[in-house]
Amino acid sequence: MKAYRFKGLLQKDGWLMPAFVRLDEQGNILEISEKKNKSFTYSNVNGFALPGMQNAHSHAFQYAMVGLTEQHDSKNNDDFWAWRKAMYQLALSIEPDQMEAIATMLYAEMLRHGYTEVAEFHYVHHQPSGTPYLNKAELGERLVAAAKKVGIKITLIPIFYQKGGFGQKANDGQRRFLSSNIKEYQQLLQSSKTAIEQYKSAKIAVGVHSLRAVEPVVVKELIEQLDDSLPFHIHVSEQLKEVEASLAYLGKRPVEWMLDNLDLNDHFHLVHATHLTKSEATRLAQSKANVVLCPSTEGNLGDGLFSLKTFQKAGGNWSIGTDSHIGLNPFEELRILDYGQRLISHQRNTFTSETQGNSGLFALNNLIFSGRKAMGVATSDFFEKGNAFDALVMDGKVPILNVCTKENLTSTIVYASDVSMHLGTIVNGEWVIKKGQINRSIKQNFIAALKTLKNR
Ligand SMILES: [Zn+2]
Repeated sequence: MKAYRFKGLLQKDGWLMPAFVRLDEQGNILEISEKKNKSFTYSNVNGFALPGMQNAHSHAFQYAMVGLTEQHDSKNNDDFWAWRKAMYQLALSIEPDQMEAIATMLYAEMLRHGYTEVAEFHYVHHQPSGTPYLNKAELGERLVAAAKKVGIKITLIPIFYQKGGFGQKANDGQRRFLSSNIKEYQQLLQSSKTAIEQYKSAKIAVGVHSLRAVEPVVVKELIEQLDDSLPFHIHVSEQLKEVEASLAYLGKRPVEWMLDNLDLNDHFHLVHATHLTKSEATRLAQSKANVVLCPSTEGNLGDGLFSLKTFQKAGGNWSIGTDSHIGLNPFEELRILDYGQRLISHQRNTFTSETQGNSGLFALNNLIFSGRKAMGVATSDFFEKGNAFDALVMDGKVPILNVCTKENLTSTIVYASDVSMHLGTIVNGEWVIKKGQINRSIKQNFIAALKTLKNR
């Protein structure tokens, strides 16, 4: 049995200070209290424990190309679609060992930044030729192996990808992604369920790349067949061109079509949902579907700003994801999201509701609760008796944190911290990263993989 004493521990309504936590052998919480239980000895941690963060949207392989698409030509447009071309080139060249080495490095970095769970939106399934691997979930299995190696929790989302755009056949650059029909996708899903069995902290979810990549009537048919207790993830309305193509093909905008044709509920996680009308944002919030926002990637790709105020006003829930991994700091995601809204509204109160006026705490409540739903986990507080103890611990010796009152600490962390202030990350009661130290062999394997990939 383990027992920790922290300077503070953050729950959904605020800090316990100090906090005494006892865990069972598996790292599940037995007791949380502001008072010491005298029958036990606690190991003293000079730090503030926040709940482990959820990264609700990741394409691990894209980490290999961060920073590579920033050579711009003043004469030509460089937009999302040009970036996608570079991403396809990378997707076509990655071998299983490289995938595993890249994901291992990336997941270690996620832990270092405070993420303890990742939802891997995984669509590179086949061999570079386009032929399926003998094990249909070969690459998904490599992602789970990578997560297991570093100790991050993973929700593997094998993605259904069928087409090259609304009413268009897939192109050759997409050959590693494709399942031609629901039956093939179900086989992939089945193999993926087997792939997660190697790791007790792995879960499965389901998903479709986008309405442009799977025929919308097939999306509807698939959803009717799937186990509706699993989270369902989909990219939607990221680009204006996609909205225009949807209007031309379906006579409706993508989110409008989903609202009118699918029974949306809180198992749905719509990634980006950048371009919404006021009515779509309100209806989406009312449906209880979640939105997964990826502010650093959306900014980097020039997607646009999400209608956050309208969505929140109607009670909408959102989480965050690092998507292309151009940014890996959860607090930076929250800041980019908030500052984008402040810059267009000329107001500072993005993250508020009638019951929560503390920006930092409001933001973390969304990140954690909607993020956990994206992983397939339902909870009612940040740390709860019976649940695993997963935490990001901030260093209590950092002067600006050390002098904070309970009221100011969360927002100081969210708005003014960097990764040098992290003491470490705990998963299932064990430290998986301390003082930013990542195992040397993980770095060496990553460097070797990128050298053989020859893309940078
Ligand atoms: Zn994505």
